[in-house]
Amino acid sequence: MGLENRGKRQGARGKKKKTAIYYITDNGFRLAQRISKIYPDARIVKFTSAGVIHELPLQWNKCKSLIFIMAAGIIVRTIANLIKDKKNDPAVVVVDEKGRYAVSLLSGHLGGANKIAKDIAGFLKGDAVITTASDINNLPSIDLWARENNLVIENWKLIPKIATKLINKGVLKVYADAGAIHELTLPKEFLQVNNPKPADMVIANKDSKLKTQNSKLYLRPVNLVIGIGCNSRTSADEIEDAVKKTLGEHNLAFASIHSIATIDKKGNEPGLIAFAKKYDLGISIFTPDELNSAFSRRQSAISLSNAAFKATGAYAVAEPAALLAAGADTLIVKKQKRGNVTVAVAERVKSQELRVKYHKASNLITHNSKLYIVGTGPGGIKHITPRAQEAIRESDVIVGYGTYLDLIEDLIKDKEIVSTGMTQEVDRCGKAVELALSGKTVSIISGGDPGIYAMAGLVFELLKGQGARGKGQEKENSKFIPNKSGQNSKNLSLATCHLPLSVEVIPGISALNACAARLGAPLMHDFASISLSDRLTPWNVIEKRLKAAAKADFVIALYNPKSKGRPEHIHKAQKIILKERSPQTPVGIVKGAMRENEEIIITDLKNMLAHCIDMQTTVIIGNSQTVVWNNRMITPRGYEKKFKI
Ligand code: SAH
Repeated sequence: MGLENRGKRQGARGKKKKTAIYYITDNGFRLAQRISKIYPDARIVKFTSAGVIHELPLQWNKCKSLIFIMAAGIIVRTIANLIKDKKNDPAVVVVDEKGRYAVSLLSGHLGGANKIAKDIAGFLKGDAVITTASDINNLPSIDLWARENNLVIENWKLIPKIATKLINKGVLKVYADAGAIHELTLPKEFLQVNNPKPADMVIANKDSKLKTQNSKLYLRPVNLVIGIGCNSRTSADEIEDAVKKTLGEHNLAFASIHSIATIDKKGNEPGLIAFAKKYDLGISIFTPDELNSAFSRRQSAISLSNAAFKATGAYAVAEPAALLAAGADTLIVKKQKRGNVTVAVAERVKSQELRVKYHKASNLITHNSKLYIVGTGPGGIKHITPRAQEAIRESDVIVGYGTYLDLIEDLIKDKEIVSTGMTQEVDRCGKAVELALSGKTVSIISGGDPGIYAMAGLVFELLKGQGARGKGQEKENSKFIPNKSGQNSKNLSLATCHLPLSVEVIPGISALNACAARLGAPLMHDFASISLSDRLTPWNVIEKRLKAAAKADFVIALYNPKSKGRPEHIHKAQKIILKERSPQTPVGIVKGAMRENEEIIITDLKNMLAHCIDMQTTVIIGNSQTVVWNNRMITPRGYEKKFKI
């Protein structure tokens, strides 16, 4: 049976995100524009004969989904030569010019065309045309179910045969081994059998010796942790060979590998990294002390080596590393030495990554761990950047605070959501990091900009805290692989090795941008932004900053101006600023900028408190030059004086 690697088995589609909408006629163009409301980052492209030759093949490889507004026949002829297989082909959906039907034409299940057709039909109030037999018969789709349950399909060729059996008989016999079954909920059509022999579908990381390949569908749970020790400069090929041989001899599926585990020293070993990269595997690293502590707890499971201790400070590497990373007490393959490589295998304990505490999980370096810290702007979807939308769309899990999530409801409706109250942001952040480290793509959402009174700083504070402790208390924690200069705080590249996961901060339109735009141009000159919340900053510091900004004639943007718990702060702020500025200084008060309940008021410093100011409001106080003209608040920068306009 052919082994598929993780990169390949996900299919090229895993990396594609984009949508393109093709049209021919003017009506088609108008419909494309309507449809793009639910796919705001979609490219709208005119379908031409030249494009078919040059542009379409490019989009075919780049896009996750292609929507065509034209006759189905044109598309069938056009894409015939481009079609490869259901793991790689994009979703193809055809919509008639009037938007009455959205037809799922290709990649209905894994590619998501069925869902897109349903979404478009729902949006246009038309009908979705779905022809996949499982959907028509209300039966589970095996490939989708496998993906949702993180199972790798090993022998794809058998899918049509087994799916047909499910449709004809209404049930399938399924065998799942002990390691897999407690993670799964089988649909009612999957009848569980107690041994693999009569099964149509086998869900296991291990095969019985009598495995008959031709008639059963094999789904592999991704739950093996491979502990590896190796000499310096061992090649990736030699490591791969040792792992494959070890697994082969024990009838274990290569496709079931979840991650690799090793000693910290080997975290930068080129051969090991190349092997991990090739198969898209994460690497967990442990200090010698951590490895040795595993040995003291699980003495019987681990073989000790004085030679290893001399070389590394750890009595063993492959075995304890596998056990620690898997959260297991027993090995399923004890240490095997092959040339320069030792290999041991453990099976991950159920939802290991969710049970380990955040600080423990940060040992994991998963190449595919991704955390986006996304700013969603002040209001609805219109004011979110395309990059932020892309990141959200790419994410498996969305972590955020209820109000902000409500504002972007349409974007996140098919995602796993982790939502907590506003003041539980530390829990929220820790959870987001934990989920990302478990291999999921996670977006942690902030309104406005994530780096302004929001979550970005907290995520980095959490990660930095781990790094600092890792350096100072190596006995207890080894968290980051330090870079060559030994500094954790620098080189925060997008996919850095020095952080345990890849973090990208995606900016958003902050409240001060949105409110300034609504007011006119009050921030044209130097300004200070001050939050009146004393939840994290002592009030005397806030007062000091208010005084300084007022004295230095900065325009002042006040965030968090008022809440039920501290209604007096805005009064105090007004008093402080009045000491330095005229009572007639223009003041803009914007509530719910770019939201449905938006309110814009232009008043002055003396009268500002007569208006409603709450936690959805930002107050902008002009400087000595700020004027009101035509209901707009403007802080001149000096063009008028300099150029006499
Ligand atoms: N990260 C956010 C700020 C979070 S602090 C940003 O960059 O905008 C929360 C404060 O932001 C609120 O109390 C309010 O002062 C301001 N704010 C957020 N959204 C707003 C909006 N749509 N209109 C006016 N003020 C807003």
